[in-house]
Amino acid sequence: MTTRLYTHPVFLEHLTPPGHPERPDRLRAIERVLDDEAFAALDRVKAPEGDEATILYAHPADFVARVRAAIPASGIVSIDADTSASPKSWQAAVTAIGAANAAIDDVFEGRAANVFVAARPPGHHAEKTTAMGFCLFNTAAIAARHAQKKHQAERVAIVDWDVHHGNGTQDIFWDDPSVLYCSTHQMPLYPGTGAKSETGAGNIVNAPLAPSTGSETFRDAFLSRVLPSVDAFAPDLIIISAGFDAHHRDPLAEINLTEDDFDWATGQLMDRAGRHSANRLVSLLEGGYDLQGLAFSVAAHVGRLMKG
Ligand SMILES: [Zn+2]
Repeated sequence: MTTRLYTHPVFLEHLTPPGHPERPDRLRAIERVLDDEAFAALDRVKAPEGDEATILYAHPADFVARVRAAIPASGIVSIDADTSASPKSWQAAVTAIGAANAAIDDVFEGRAANVFVAARPPGHHAEKTTAMGFCLFNTAAIAARHAQKKHQAERVAIVDWDVHHGNGTQDIFWDDPSVLYCSTHQMPLYPGTGAKSETGAGNIVNAPLAPSTGSETFRDAFLSRVLPSVDAFAPDLIIISAGFDAHHRDPLAEINLTEDDFDWATGQLMDRAGRHSANRLVSLLEGGYDLQGLAFSVAAHVGRLMKG
């Protein structure tokens, strides 16, 4: 079985204002690096149309209607201080959800060993009723619910190594012990949540990292907090909220990881997926704003996924 990659041209059509870090060039950089013949064996699939009804797995209908109503006919509008929408943003967000849900189907139905979804907008800051932090809907949360509803997954672990805390995912699963949410992130940093003391129903595990943290401390946090929590939870599926903005080149944070750290962390989670969840692992792109740091990190991440 192979590693599957979902992309879609509409992901380039979610537009943000000039100078905004979350820009279409991010996906072009990923596309370029994955064009290398080292990735020839990737099973490249165009993301299917998403099912809008699945947005309701994580967000109430009035919020979904509000986001839909905010989509402009032309130009770019602000949803909040740093989140915006353009005419194709709805289709991009729904297709990102479609890709993530299809990836879940693939790993449960044996069409792929594991899957990477290269989509935008990202999702982990979107709370139940708030679009924020470049995110409209919480794709990872919807995919976790999809796995529970369609494939009877009892326990889903979401591991989020984006440098920002996934406040949205934490909010959605705060009182839901069927989903484990583990996050490594810089603190203090946007959005301000993610203290160790935030534990939800015992299913939230935050591992905040001080600015200037490097490989060793990151790996320690992974080994001492994230992985033991995953082992104790024994998930039926692991979803990675894969942001690459903890890379040392990233302009939005001060954590100093290298692509080797993403390779390592990927391998650790593949090992846990092998132990607990019949290898089922789906990785969803979140942040990563230095184009070179992002491209090299994605190459390391996907290269490791392909090693099986
Ligand atoms: Zn981030």
